[in-house]
Amino acid sequence: MTINEREGAALGGLLFFNGPVHNGGFTFTSRPGKATGIRLAAALNQLLGSEPVPHLWNTVTLAGDLRHLEHAATAGETVGRAAFEAGLIAAKYGDGRRPAGGIVTDADPQVAALALEMIEARLSTGALSLSTERIPHCPGCGHMAGTGAHPCQVCGNETLLARPRRVLVAERALDRPALDFNDVHAHHKRAPVHLRNIAGNVPARLILSRTRDHGISLEPLGLPEMVLDPRAGLHIAVLAAARARGAETAVMVLTQNAAANVAAYGQPFLRHHGSRLLYGLHGHIPYDHIQDLTTDYQRHRLPPAVRASFETWFLPLYSWHAKNHIGASQLAALLTHFHRARLTAPERPQAPAWRDIQQAVEAGSTTWLTRKAGLATAVSIASGTAP
Ligand SMILES: [Zn+2]
Repeated sequence: MTINEREGAALGGLLFFNGPVHNGGFTFTSRPGKATGIRLAAALNQLLGSEPVPHLWNTVTLAGDLRHLEHAATAGETVGRAAFEAGLIAAKYGDGRRPAGGIVTDADPQVAALALEMIEARLSTGALSLSTERIPHCPGCGHMAGTGAHPCQVCGNETLLARPRRVLVAERALDRPALDFNDVHAHHKRAPVHLRNIAGNVPARLILSRTRDHGISLEPLGLPEMVLDPRAGLHIAVLAAARARGAETAVMVLTQNAAANVAAYGQPFLRHHGSRLLYGLHGHIPYDHIQDLTTDYQRHRLPPAVRASFETWFLPLYSWHAKNHIGASQLAALLTHFHRARLTAPERPQAPAWRDIQQAVEAGSTTWLTRKAGLATAVSIASGTAP
């Protein structure tokens, strides 16, 4: 089976997307862990035989609002917020490089269009409602504060005042966990207790509208100067990207803690017109300790390209298997495992072995990563389809 025969195999099926990355002040060189979701999604889609998907970015943040205001004040020029964010994202990739599948942010027009479509559908069934609530506001700047948040995070005003405001509200079903493991893409449906606790610690009535300078405007719903809460919006960004690719199931890969922090807000937005979003959980990679491998790299005589492949391809995949933190003390053994597997990797993957990997990836099974033969097949798929 050739690569071309595999192309589009996952269309109509399942694709992986990174949980949108906060567009904060970092580079992938300084914080390689920030790219884990992007690299993991790319590796899994490649194993499925699919074309690259867009990289997803989270630009709807209070920190982004403040950074944009500060830029306008110091630079003395007006750059539109979308262009400002696009410039910051482009800088993350270095010299003119762009992801092959493009970039989607959580404030893009196609995301906003899908969001309004989904919200209107849920307003009509009563799953979401518009309601007037007494909510803490800053009398200085109008910022709507979260519960218990003071002083004002925008202007520093010490006193917040509760005032009535029309907002978008989701009523949570109390008999359903905020992070339901039926919504997790995994071979074994396990619910770590700490995850359930974090995700469960949210109020029954969730306010889904926020005061932000940038984002999915809720003005068409009669909520002027409000946007959709970005924790809800990032789910819709993934569904919009999946819809553009014709994928019915979108797996958003992110860490367990990130999933716990957004799951309650995403719960109303996991399904739409036959398409579905699942969470794919991965752990943290100890990149701060990667220099500990210097002597191991030399001992195995690994050229830079193989080192890069270990760090940016294998470790993200292994974090998908590990789910939790990978310990720094595990790195040397993982490198040996990767090295031994790649030495046995066939030049071209055999079709049956590729099919086994593809089925495992679709099912959320990861044990093949721990077996030399399975990993060797994956290495040959990845090197055979590399640009
Ligand atoms: Zn304020």
